[in-house]
Amino acid sequence: QNTLLSGIGTTVFTVMSALAQKHGAINLGQGFPDHDGPEDVVRAAADALLDGRNQYPPMPGVPELRRAVAHHNRRFYGIEADPDAEVVVTSGATEAVTACLMAVLDPGDECALIEPLYDTYLPVVKLLGAVPKLVRLQPPKWELPRAELAAAFGPRTKAVLLNSPMNPTGKVFTAAELAFLADLVARHDCYAVCDEVYEHLTFDGWRHIPLMTLPGMRERCMRIGSAGKTFSLTGWKVGYVTCDRSLAPNVAKAHQNLTFTTPPNLQRGVAVGLMKDDAYFAGISEALGAKRDLLAAGLAELGFGVLPTQGSYFVTADFRPIGFTGDDVAFCRALTEEAGVTAIPVTAFYADPATAPNHYARFAFCKGDEVLRAALGRMRGWI
Ligand code: PMP
Ligand code: GLN
Repeated sequence: QNTLLSGIGTTVFTVMSALAQKHGAINLGQGFPDHDGPEDVVRAAADALLDGRNQYPPMPGVPELRRAVAHHNRRFYGIEADPDAEVVVTSGATEAVTACLMAVLDPGDECALIEPLYDTYLPVVKLLGAVPKLVRLQPPKWELPRAELAAAFGPRTKAVLLNSPMNPTGKVFTAAELAFLADLVARHDCYAVCDEVYEHLTFDGWRHIPLMTLPGMRERCMRIGSAGKTFSLTGWKVGYVTCDRSLAPNVAKAHQNLTFTTPPNLQRGVAVGLMKDDAYFAGISEALGAKRDLLAAGLAELGFGVLPTQGSYFVTADFRPIGFTGDDVAFCRALTEEAGVTAIPVTAFYADPATAPNHYARFAFCKGDEVLRAALGRMRGWI
């Protein structure tokens, strides 16, 4: 058997959701909304199911969705992309990240990654036989450590993986940080895989800037979006990659060998979603921002050291100020079993949890206000 896969555990999201269910806990762990997204999007997919759109669609995605992805790129970022040659639809951003890494990495190539990182990144880089070069952001500010990032790039660097807005930190990379990264990517003649699934979920006037929009980056970036996050339909697993026409054939070939296609009816729904008016996109960040405020203020009132969140579904909080002395895994277990609330230990987002900061828990706020209030109430009773 593959020793790398045998050596890693079941994903923390599955583990913590199962624990939440076992203890009847309010699940603020795994990031999924408790309300489905827009009805017209769901209805378009349902209509497509009944209209007989149920056989293999074109491998790179249905034309209607590829056109909608290109339109969305132009509308929000001024990125011009050819829907026939520069867009690939995948079964979720998870597949998209893997397909983009497969598209550019050969065994032995180096890939720079920024910690804390989403749990699929590192195993995939290793499964491809590439060499991960990890750079850590430090709490509480999670600023890009420029010298360390520069040191992670070398003659064998082929790619960097950037997640902004970032899971689990809620960080949105600044224009200056992106410019620094873009310079490294250009100087080392490599590629950037940009996981931008939370692109529309930013708060307080923070705006997501795709690395692809920086000078010299159009040909080097593979930009990834997800219907799960943009339309609150995480079970759909429809992702989309925008990249240069020189890269798209390899991304498509990776997709061809991973899943080959993505359900055509769901693609139709997502195409309708991406064409929704600007008010929809503004509305989702506004609504989610209010939930961020509710949870962050509530946690702060309970005594947690709440870190700022500029985007994503998540807020991270230091639990030492409430008097908990164990590590984050112990905290999340106790919180689930004793308080009836589930969160995710932040060390799960590090290659080596033993050396990671171990006093933060990640709480998802993509839930009904009444659910967030109930969770805060349970924690108040426990502390
Ligand atoms: N990237 C990040 C940073 C995520 O948080 C997630 C999970 N929501 C994904 C990728 C996976 O997205 P999808 O469900 O579209 O595969
Ligand atoms: N992206 C979600 C999170 O970070 C979970 C996705 C999953 O369960 N793999 O919570």
